[in-house]
Amino acid sequence: MAITTDLENPYLLLTPGPLSTSQTVREAMLRDWCTWDDDYNLGVVQKIRTQLVELATKAPGYTSVLMQGSGTASVEATIGTVIDDAGRLLVVNNGAYGARIAEIADYLNISHTVFDCGETRLPSAEVIDELLASDPSITHVAMVHCETTTGMLNPVEEVVKIVKRHKRIAIIDAMSSFGGVPMDMAELGIDYLISSANKCIQGVPGFGFVIAREELLKQCKGQARSLSLDLYAQWDCMEVNAGKWRFTSPTHTVRAFAQAMQELLLEGGVEARHERYCKNQSCLVQGMEELGFKCLLEKDMHSPFITSFYSPEHKDYDFRRFYSLLKEKGFVIYPGKVSHADCFRIGNIGDVYPGDIARLINAISESMYWEHKS
Ligand SMILES: *Cc1c(COP(=O)(O)O)cnc(C)c1O
Repeated sequence: MAITTDLENPYLLLTPGPLSTSQTVREAMLRDWCTWDDDYNLGVVQKIRTQLVELATKAPGYTSVLMQGSGTASVEATIGTVIDDAGRLLVVNNGAYGARIAEIADYLNISHTVFDCGETRLPSAEVIDELLASDPSITHVAMVHCETTTGMLNPVEEVVKIVKRHKRIAIIDAMSSFGGVPMDMAELGIDYLISSANKCIQGVPGFGFVIAREELLKQCKGQARSLSLDLYAQWDCMEVNAGKWRFTSPTHTVRAFAQAMQELLLEGGVEARHERYCKNQSCLVQGMEELGFKCLLEKDMHSPFITSFYSPEHKDYDFRRFYSLLKEKGFVIYPGKVSHADCFRIGNIGDVYPGDIARLINAISESMYWEHKS
């Protein structure tokens, strides 16, 4: 059977990841690497581990671990490793990814309680304060930074400040925000920060990573509830064997990530990338509003990564048809995920520029078939 090897991307991915990557990131995968050799471990893996820590904070005392699998595997590795049997987790939930953390705790039989905030509301720092004050058995608090379900940016600074005041451990799922918004995890007080290769760093999918306070991670030996997702054992192996992964590592993906990291620095670092994403997102919202679309969230809740729009109420509107028309024109958008509102989502992270957003708005205007019908 013939396999097509067309390397041109037929459409731009306006999704929360995997996202459109640069050609040079994809080209970095065109050679094979030995997982035992220094070229890979020292030259690629260790360098990435150091760069990730540098990206996360200026303070000493932090380390990083890379973990095979999609981003969820890194979340599961963290939740399943860093909370011991006597521990108890508070999950701040305002969307599908917060709910997923609670589901992981369920699966792993980790004692936990969930603060449900509703999908379109910011988590209340006061309530978290009260919850922590009234339940001293809570040892860890987990929250998502950018809740990709809606595109909401959660108040990480406020919430972590309270978590630290109560001397609990703060775990942040910064999957869709890390590398795309300036933040210093030490200044914020975050103990464990989780993200993955195929979001704001603009690599390809295949692994996630955790940046951790070394002193805390060191104490997690033997606590993991899973062999392959033992965050401590993975970290220990990488430390002792200078970058070696315990089990087969996704070499091509990691090499592509090293290239993506170089490109992030070339762009001007996180600040420059954040600026581009903000421009993309404001062009998107302005263009969509001019076409009559409405945002699900108030503007001050928006992240610069992904935006939810209400579906048109016209009886002829159908997401699949709208999606297909846009795909033919070179753009792939994303269905909604909010449970109580009919929405679709458009991401603007990846190798995507304001010019692309302008072309997208044109394509959307031409694809609003429900309005064009005579
Ligand atoms: C993408 C994402 C994840 C991980 O999803 P995977 O499909 O496992 O890669 C987790 N949390 C958030 C907030 C995300 O955006």
